[in-house]
Amino acid sequence: MANEENTSPINFIRNIIDEDLKNGRYGGKVQTRFPPEPNGYLHIGHAKSICLNFGIAQDYTGGQCNLRFDDTNPTKEDTEYVESIKRDVEWLGFSWSGEIRNASDYYGQYYNYAIELIKQGKAYVCDLSPEQTREYRGTLTEPGKDSPYRNRSIQENLDLFEQMKNGDFDEGSCVLRAKIDMSSGNINMRDPAIYRIRKVSHHRTGDQWCIYPMYDYAHCLADYLEGISHSLCTLEFQDHRPLYDWFLEQLTEEPRPHQYEFARLNLNYTVTSKRKLKELVDQSHVNGWDDPRMPTIVGFKRRGYTPASIRNFCERIGVSKKETVIDFGILEDSLRDDLNTCAPRAMGVLNPIKLVIENYPEGQEEFREVANHPKDESLGKRKIPFSREIYIERDDFMENPPPKYHRLSPGKEVRLRYSYVVKCESVVKDEKTGEITELRCTYDPATLGKKPEGRKVKGIIHWVSAKHSIPATINLYDRLFSSEHPTAKEKEGESYLSKLNPDSLSVLSSCQLEPSLADAKPLQNYQFERQGYFCLDPKSPKEKLTFNRSVTLRDSWSEKK
Ligand code: ATP
Ligand code: MG
Repeated sequence: MANEENTSPINFIRNIIDEDLKNGRYGGKVQTRFPPEPNGYLHIGHAKSICLNFGIAQDYTGGQCNLRFDDTNPTKEDTEYVESIKRDVEWLGFSWSGEIRNASDYYGQYYNYAIELIKQGKAYVCDLSPEQTREYRGTLTEPGKDSPYRNRSIQENLDLFEQMKNGDFDEGSCVLRAKIDMSSGNINMRDPAIYRIRKVSHHRTGDQWCIYPMYDYAHCLADYLEGISHSLCTLEFQDHRPLYDWFLEQLTEEPRPHQYEFARLNLNYTVTSKRKLKELVDQSHVNGWDDPRMPTIVGFKRRGYTPASIRNFCERIGVSKKETVIDFGILEDSLRDDLNTCAPRAMGVLNPIKLVIENYPEGQEEFREVANHPKDESLGKRKIPFSREIYIERDDFMENPPPKYHRLSPGKEVRLRYSYVVKCESVVKDEKTGEITELRCTYDPATLGKKPEGRKVKGIIHWVSAKHSIPATINLYDRLFSSEHPTAKEKEGESYLSKLNPDSLSVLSSCQLEPSLADAKPLQNYQFERQGYFCLDPKSPKEKLTFNRSVTLRDSWSEKK
């Protein structure tokens, strides 16, 4: 039964589970699994699957979700990936049931099941070459042909399979195949391979095996052996479901697990394929798997995304069978919503220009205590220093402003956030370039916390005290690809790599931040007022702080479009 306090999303999979629980199927329990192949870091698409599988386990009484590494493919696995996947699942706020599982834990059982199939006359060793096998398989419109090895005797198959296992045959010389139906309308049912020979070490079982099970055969059996009730996967496995069921029907008893498919997550302006992401890393298009532009979990984490923002995003996009491309802006909105409520505010000037307050005494300073968050008092207070020289944003001054410009311009006034109203008296320019290098202003001492008398000052700008501020580097990130669908024209030979956005990273190296930020902890989120959300890069050098912009305050992308 669903938990009483269950406010979780409704989707077609949860409806199926509710129905199964009502009918007492699986003894009233739901058991899911998340089965990544450890051949890369997890991406935002995996987050959808994690939130779905672990979320169901969390929301139903007695629900469990296993973390199972699908390590049936011996060559590619890497313990670095295994460790990163465990960290990512935990970071997202989930915990798996019991020990970590590995498909390779079941190699012995898979082997015994294969012998059982042979004994039932439902599997045979086939010596066709890979090319011949392809030819015999037929096409979508034409049925396949029976392999000449299809009618070997049970005893002969048992002997040959044992020899395969003992390493007596070369790689590619034969495979064990299921004996199903070469004329099936579903190509997956045309005597698919169950075992192939691979004479390579496995990262967990070493050289113990030289035959390795195929995914379709291994996956359903692992689900069965773990007592999985609902095996959730993406739509491309829909045509494999008859095979999933076939193996289980030959080899196991009810209650058997069932496979349900949902649409994978696609995000625009990025790619969600481990292979492509690995290529970006290997070819140094980005600075590693955790580059904040990467759609990996570690990339989002380093960028300043919170686990809650990713979970909320997954909830927002929902689970269905319809293939869609989700707008990156929805993910960014989820982050804004979360950080707006929980990120302390601070002031930071990204492109500073100096402003000198001529009527403020030299050497004098003031410290004003302000709340770190407009609504949440628990986030505390801090002191902001003020002095004769401050930095403001270059963009907050215009020498020849358009009408209705409310920021600073010659002869006009603006309020400094939490502080006085200042008026621009003159500008200092570089003699050679003509560039403005300094703004000379006066302040009105009567405007602290009060409206100026007899005039309206509409603009409020952020600033930092030059004497107290700390220099910093800020990384601004943009979309990794400039094309909305980077892989759309792959078939025409246009690689997604040619769609990379050359301006996806811009580094601002002369930023000035308010001094409280000297104590920022790695990855702690801040809102820099009027600028966006930022966090201290975990790889920030000690000498000069480096912050990452997580997201702007508003969706400037949709506005641009
Ligand atoms: P990739 O193509 O990136 O390698 P994959 O499906 O091969 O992805 P796995 O490690 O096998 O990656 O996936 C683990 C689980 O995550 C699977 O159940 C898979 O269906 C799911 N998954 C992978 N990509 C997505 C996605 N974009 N959206 C939703 N679920 C996904
Ligand atoms: Mg895969």
